[in-house]
Amino acid sequence: MHIGIDVGGTKIIGGLVDESGRVTFKKKLFTEKEKGYTGVRGDIGDLIRTIIKESNIEIKRVGIACAGQIDKTTKNILFSPNLDWHNAPLKDDIEKICGIDTHIENDVNAATYGEWKFGLKEIPQDAIGVFIGTGIGGGIIIDKKIYRGFSHVGGEVGHIIVNPYGYKCHCGNTGCFEAYCGGSYIIERVRTEIEEGYRGKIWNIIEGNISSLHTGHIEEACLLGDNLCKRIWEEVIEYAGAALASLVNLLNPEVVILGGGVVYGSRYFIENVQAVMEKRTMQASLANLKIEKAQLGEDAGIVGAAFIE
Ligand SMILES: [Zn+2]
Repeated sequence: MHIGIDVGGTKIIGGLVDESGRVTFKKKLFTEKEKGYTGVRGDIGDLIRTIIKESNIEIKRVGIACAGQIDKTTKNILFSPNLDWHNAPLKDDIEKICGIDTHIENDVNAATYGEWKFGLKEIPQDAIGVFIGTGIGGGIIIDKKIYRGFSHVGGEVGHIIVNPYGYKCHCGNTGCFEAYCGGSYIIERVRTEIEEGYRGKIWNIIEGNISSLHTGHIEEACLLGDNLCKRIWEEVIEYAGAALASLVNLLNPEVVILGGGVVYGSRYFIENVQAVMEKRTMQASLANLKIEKAQLGEDAGIVGAAFIE
């Protein structure tokens, strides 16, 4: 049995995972960010102890997935924007608290690894995972290993630049893939126009409740011919297709795994993006390429963290 923990900005999920990737026990906590690093670290330690008690067998390793960049040598979490942690020594601290070998991994690397190892019918040699939620994260698998790069901070798929003169991104740059296709950015563009007085089919779909707006509504309004949503959603599809085509041209994966709230909340995102990719990807890279929807949902992070090396 393996233990995987996924530390997110709103919740911490911990689970016991068997050799086949099945989660046999799971427990969730709210992330009480206001308690600061030491408080949350204590909660993670308690969660691990609870799971160990539940397992009743010796556990040799804990894997923890966490948003942010992880130092190659110290394994400290250099910066986690979701948690507001700077240079957090989570590996050392958990090893001290729980007395168990601990591996720290970037959350999207872990999710990609989990989906790659357990979410597909066959395990491919090379794959890319792209998770399009409020922001965009990704992971790259080359030769059955996660690719981390020279300083172990690579794989920032969301911040490849699709238009140097484009929208502003939260990372400080302009024109990132995330700024075009991240859920929070898409919603923001539609919301701003509605707040400035735009009324179209989208207004009826959300019944005038702007705070309920999600990207599924925007796609639905686009399909009904709403002018604003058509312009914005078609732009999302075109840029997502272009970004993924660039990744496929660069890395020539066998499978692209697509996950995240924007993908799950949409009816035709994958097939529409695939149509753009077919136009924009070089033929040799496109041959036999599979685009698969992520299968493990919220378990991807814990399953991946439990097994990733
Ligand atoms: Zn960016």
